[in-house]
Amino acid sequence: MIERLLGTVEAPREGPTVVGLGGLHGNEPAGVRALEAVLSELRHSGRGGLSRGRFIALTGNRPALEENVRFLERDLNRIWFDPEVADTEGREQAELLEILDEIRARSSGPVYIIDLHTTSGNAPPFAVIGDTLGNRRFGGVLPVPLVLGLSDQIQGTLLEYLDRQGWVSVGFESGSHLGADSIVMASSAVWLLIHSIGLLESDDPRVPGARTALTLAADGFPRAVEVFHRHPVGPEHSFRMLPGFRSFQSVRKGELLAKERDVEVRAPEAGRLLMPLYQPRGGDGFFLARVVQIEPVIEGTLEPSTERSRE
Ligand SMILES: [Zn+2]
Repeated sequence: MIERLLGTVEAPREGPTVVGLGGLHGNEPAGVRALEAVLSELRHSGRGGLSRGRFIALTGNRPALEENVRFLERDLNRIWFDPEVADTEGREQAELLEILDEIRARSSGPVYIIDLHTTSGNAPPFAVIGDTLGNRRFGGVLPVPLVLGLSDQIQGTLLEYLDRQGWVSVGFESGSHLGADSIVMASSAVWLLIHSIGLLESDDPRVPGARTALTLAADGFPRAVEVFHRHPVGPEHSFRMLPGFRSFQSVRKGELLAKERDVEVRAPEAGRLLMPLYQPRGGDGFFLARVVQIEPVIEGTLEPSTERSRE
């Protein structure tokens, strides 16, 4: 079985704790590979380890990672308010909860979590931010689109659970499951995030390249969107997305997006399409979002303005 603890790197000086989590969905191994790459760099590259605090890297759904499937019995990123331990994902969740509780109990400073994912369809890297000021400050340092309001559409995610526990967190979608750049995008996000809260020296040589990689990959995409619609998919999964859609593309009201048992699924409103489903498992067919204006991350006043751009 894949190890739960990929590794820990601890600086001599006290500081914040950052937990990187990869593979909460078992068909998304890029996050795990990215965390392994960051750990290896911190330990062996000669370019320096952490200047303060500690970095802990964990795996998510290990039995599903072994089989390269999203989940075996239940989606491990939808069950965090449903503590049933009698199945595979329940046992994985119980173990993760115990480890996260222990990390928090042993941390003198603040604790942050980075939850790494990939998408089934084509997408630029983007960050998913729960609606707290701490999350917005943390995730807002990433030069990629920020997706707000997702937790209003899907329940029981790890990040929503952690929000209620007072953790600061960001979800990061680094590209498609098998995308050539998905590992590099995920590790770039980790470098920028741990740098932003002082785990690295301010002039750490790995940070400029990471920022450039993300900036280039996200070029031309909106700075922030807010999700307003989710198309749910039932367990029988007769949902078929039409080919060729990609995250953040604009769709018109009434545009044909998918078929479900020969019934046409059309966009109920105009908006930006997010995470169209192109894999055999998953409960979300697609999301629709609208572009919102947000203030730059300066004084921690990252509130969406009421002014909305026209789609
Ligand atoms: Zn995922």
